Amino acid sequence: MNNKFIPLSVPNIKGNEIKYVTEALEAEWVSTAGAKIEEFEKNMTEYVHSAGAVACQSGTAGLHLALHYFGITENDAVIVPTLTFIAAVNPVKYEKAQPIFMDCDDSLCMDPIKLRRFLDNECTKDNGKVIFKQNGKMIKAIVVVHVFGNMADMEQIMSIATEYNLPIIEDATEALGTYYTAGKYKGKYAGTIGNVGVYSFNGNKIMTTGGGGMIVSNDKELLEKVRYWSTQSKDDVVNFIHNEIGFNYRMTNVQAAIGVAQLERLEEFIAIKERNYLHYKKVIDNMDGMSLLGFRDDVRTNYWFYSLVLDMDKYDKNKVIQNFSANNIQTRPIWGLISEQKPYQDEYEYDITCAKEYYNTIVNIPCSTNLSEADADIVLEVIKSM
Ligand SMILES: *Cc1c(COP(=O)(O)O)cnc(C)c1O
Repeated sequence: MNNKFIPLSVPNIKGNEIKYVTEALEAEWVSTAGAKIEEFEKNMTEYVHSAGAVACQSGTAGLHLALHYFGITENDAVIVPTLTFIAAVNPVKYEKAQPIFMDCDDSLCMDPIKLRRFLDNECTKDNGKVIFKQNGKMIKAIVVVHVFGNMADMEQIMSIATEYNLPIIEDATEALGTYYTAGKYKGKYAGTIGNVGVYSFNGNKIMTTGGGGMIVSNDKELLEKVRYWSTQSKDDVVNFIHNEIGFNYRMTNVQAAIGVAQLERLEEFIAIKERNYLHYKKVIDNMDGMSLLGFRDDVRTNYWFYSLVLDMDKYDKNKVIQNFSANNIQTRPIWGLISEQKPYQDEYEYDITCAKEYYNTIVNIPCSTNLSEADADIVLEVIKSM
């Protein structure tokens, strides 16, 4: 029995965070304006090679603003994944639109083959509009999530989106730092391939600002618009003139100060995650009845989350998690499918099979950037004993 608690995914705050936060506090710029926000946006823009970036309160807020840009209404539908965190889909409901749930492939990201089959068979094209035959709603966008830091199949997905003239919103909240190393999108970062991408800096993400998000795009008009909405759509700051309904979604200068420091260490974090992933993989892949899920070829992934895949004939997911827990090791099952959650149970889903299988077989194991190889060895000993 192991006595040392090993968490699943916790922040790593050992760089310039305290220094930069102190600078923000000493300047008394603590709210939704200030030099750190501008610096963080500039550094993020440079890191992912986008045309710009807009810092906001959370990944969820960023996704909401991104969807809002495409003018989605209750007469519209948005294609979304079922196997992901629910925050990727809730903004569709904030806009009163219908989510259409799509299956994943073995990357855990949206299956492009089913996406195409759905659009070809269940929709019609009418004057450049894509109409869902079942209820006449117009498909307005596709939300693609880069699950656990892996890249979705963007070559296929972008070619389908271009053919159907549908905008792609990349939920890259888990995939900051992931980029293609070959192919059509060589050098392109997750989040910068579709029309708009969103990152999250929640506490369990690869880097954190406590809470926060960032919208990136190569469309400057889009960036300008979401920036305007994120600060209550102020057209005249002196006279308080607002020509549109806005949101209070802007990041604070204190959060941004943490973000500037975290981004300085992002490549180091990825290197540690890669080292620990390979360390686990060497042992786990030689075991009977389980494996460690791989990442897409031709991609430098950020290795955010590690997925232990269990052979269902040999292992019971809940028992495995309990076993880890009894040994002070924090793990978790993959998310419950969104299309099976209470607010979404009655929504349309298209041929969901792969996601159901992975729901039963994946357990995420400790992956913090504070995790030492000795800690990983403790996790491996517990795995071997099961
Ligand atoms: C974390 C996450 C979000 C939401 O980000 P927050 O910053 O927590 O609002 C959205 N989608 C996915 C897939 C996530 O993992």
